[in-house]
Amino acid sequence: MKQPKIAIVGMFLESNRYAAVVSKEKFHKTYGDNIIEDARSPSPKLLKEGQGFFEQMDAAGAWQPVPISMIIGGAGGPADDTFIREEIDKVRLALTSQLPLDGVYILNHGAMTTTEQGDPDGLLYETVKDAVGASIPIVTTIDLHANISQRMVDNANVIVAYRTDPHIDQFECGKEAADILLEILAGMQPVVRNIRVPIVPPNVSLLTDNGPYGDLIDYGQSKIDQEILNVSIVAGFAYGDTADNGLHIIVTSRNNAEAAQALCLQLAEMAWAMKERFLWDLVPIEQAVASAVASGIDHSTQPILLADLGDNIGAGGPGNTLWLIESLHQAGAQGVFIGSFFDPTLVALASDIGIGANFTAVFHGDTWERSDATFVAENAVVKYLHPGKFNITSGPLKGMLVNAGPMCLLDLGGIVVLVTSRRPIVWPDPALIESMGIGISSIRTLVLKCRSNYRAVFNAYFDTDRMIEVDTPGRTSPVLSRHDWTCIPRPSYPIDLEFDWQPSTG
Ligand SMILES: [Zn+2]
Repeated sequence: MKQPKIAIVGMFLESNRYAAVVSKEKFHKTYGDNIIEDARSPSPKLLKEGQGFFEQMDAAGAWQPVPISMIIGGAGGPADDTFIREEIDKVRLALTSQLPLDGVYILNHGAMTTTEQGDPDGLLYETVKDAVGASIPIVTTIDLHANISQRMVDNANVIVAYRTDPHIDQFECGKEAADILLEILAGMQPVVRNIRVPIVPPNVSLLTDNGPYGDLIDYGQSKIDQEILNVSIVAGFAYGDTADNGLHIIVTSRNNAEAAQALCLQLAEMAWAMKERFLWDLVPIEQAVASAVASGIDHSTQPILLADLGDNIGAGGPGNTLWLIESLHQAGAQGVFIGSFFDPTLVALASDIGIGANFTAVFHGDTWERSDATFVAENAVVKYLHPGKFNITSGPLKGMLVNAGPMCLLDLGGIVVLVTSRRPIVWPDPALIESMGIGISSIRTLVLKCRSNYRAVFNAYFDTDRMIEVDTPGRTSPVLSRHDWTCIPRPSYPIDLEFDWQPSTG
C-alpha cells in the first residue's frame, strides 16, 4: 500500500458556562510542521494523545502526516465564537488544499462551547468530513468529560474516549486511534451505535479507579473482542450546560450493527440501574478546616490534602476563590501550603518589595457569591520569587513545560501560598515546591484547586483517605442543584431525581 496521507487537526477546550470567555489570545495555537516536531519530541507541549498517535503510526510504517492546526485552550469558559469559526474555516481551506487525503485524526476535548454555539466540536467534525469527502475515515480522541452531540457521532467514523479519571491514558488513546485508522485503511468497516443516558453526573463521582463510572467503563472494556472495536462511555461536563449533556454510551463494532446495538443497550441499562451511585457527599468547609487545624497540631497523624471543589481550575475555576484561604487563616491553621492562587497584582507587589519584606497582603479573589472579593492578611512575608516557568517532573504530564508567569511564595504565618500571575496552575509540581525551599514532608495540609487529576501525582505523598473533597462555593461546585441550568435536557438525574427512563437506540 502507498504511504497513507493523514491529516492532523486539534481543537481542545473544556467550556464552563460560568467561567470567563476564552479569547483568541488565550488559545495556544500551532500550525503546520511545528505540530509534527512537537508530537515527535520527548517533551511535547501539545497533547499526549498526539504523541501516542505519531508513535504508533511511525511504528506501523511509512506514512505522510499532514499537520493542519492545533488550537488548545485547556479549561475555561465559552470560546470567542468569531475566533473558532475562523479557525474552522482555516481547517477547511487547509484540508481542501491537501486533497486527496486517506484519513484524518482529530484531537479534541469535546466539551467546547462558544459565545454563540453549543456544539462547535460538532461543527468542526462536520466541516472536516465535508472537506475531505464522505468516504475518508475520521478518527477522533476525546476527553471523557466531552458533551457528545449526534453531529459528532455522525461525522466521525470512530470516537475514542479516555477511560481514566484522573486522565492518565491520553497517550494510549492516541495509539488506539492510530491502530483503528490503520485498520479502516486496510478495509475494516466500523459501525457505531450510541445512546444518551439522562444522567448528568457530578464530576466528583467520576473517578475511574473505583466507583460507578469505573465499574461501567471496566465492564465495557471486558466486552472488547473481535467484533467490538471500541467502547467509549462519556460522562460529560455538567458545567458546559449544553443540549448534549448526558452520559453517552458509544459502541463501535467491526461491521456488526447487531453486536454494537446490543452492547450499547446493555450498558445504557446498567448505567441507569446504578444512577443512585452517582450521588456524592462532600465535606463542609468547617469540618475540613477543623481537620487542617488538627493536622497542624498533631504531627503523628498522616498529612491531609484539601481539594477546593468550588474552584477546580481544570473545570474552568478562576483559581482565586477565597473561601478556604480565609477560613484556614481565621482558624489559625498551621503547616498549610496553598498550591496556587491566581493574583497578578499581588505577585507584582511582592516582586517590587522583594524577598523578606513584610507587608499587608491583599488577595483579590473571585466575586462569585461574595460581597467582598478580597481577603487581607497582615504581616505577610515574601518568602520566594520565581520566574514562573517549570517542567512537570511526575505524573501523566511529565516532561511538559508550564509557564505560569512570575510567581511568589507568601508566608501568612502558618500558611504558605504560591501566587501565580500569568494563569492559574492546577497544582504545583512536587519538584517545584521543593525547589522553593518547602519540603513536601513538612506540609501538614496541602490545598489544591483541583478535583481529581492531582491524585495521579500526590498519591505518592498523601493517603487516599486523607484527601478531602471540600464543599466550597464557586463556579465549579459539584452540587449541581445550586446552579441555574438553561440548556441541559430535563429531566436529567440527579438534577431531577424522580423520573423513569427506558433506553432505545436509533
Ligand atoms: Zn477531563
